[in-house]
Amino acid sequence: MLTLTSNFACLAVTAEQKNDPVMISKRVYEEPTFKIHTLGSQELRTSSKRITKFNQDTKLLARYMLQSMYTAKGIGLAAPQVGIDKQLIVIDLDFENSATPPIVLINPEIVTNSISVNTYEEGCLSIPGVYLDVIRSSIIEVNFRDEQGRPRSLRADGLLARCIQHEMDHLKGILFVDRVTNKAELNKVLQENEMNLSDVHSL
Ligand SMILES: [Zn+2]
Repeated sequence: MLTLTSNFACLAVTAEQKNDPVMISKRVYEEPTFKIHTLGSQELRTSSKRITKFNQDTKLLARYMLQSMYTAKGIGLAAPQVGIDKQLIVIDLDFENSATPPIVLINPEIVTNSISVNTYEEGCLSIPGVYLDVIRSSIIEVNFRDEQGRPRSLRADGLLARCIQHEMDHLKGILFVDRVTNKAELNKVLQENEMNLSDVHSL
């Protein structure tokens, strides 16, 4: 599913990358490494900055975010959710299978959006208990850097395309509830979960 951009710099590291995925235990800790902010927190509404230095701190941030995501039993986590205003996303749709490496996307940019859209129920670690339909592009192509700063490109459909779009929204301070079109249902579910409609910034 992961494809590389076809420039020489990338081709040169293809072999290395194949043997060099992000290796991390998917164990569930008693407490997440990072506290995950929830709806109403200002941290979720900030615009994240691009990462310009790729060093040990970048790799550690990705690893701590993965640990937090696995512990919270999520399939995606963006740095603003843990109060860090950097453009870093971690995703693992197969979090129960230790053999599948997760994906780390840094400074992601969507270069192609399909015209076709689909509707699917989403949830978010920052809005626990709330699951609502959101319309998104069916297929996307995204350019990004991996945790070592190498340029990558990925074409995604299905749940992965949805997850990347959801996490990239976090980098702009947008939450999935902002995109929910069924306001009556949104209001009802938020009330059931003791959350405030005033914390939703509808698009
Ligand atoms: Zn989310």
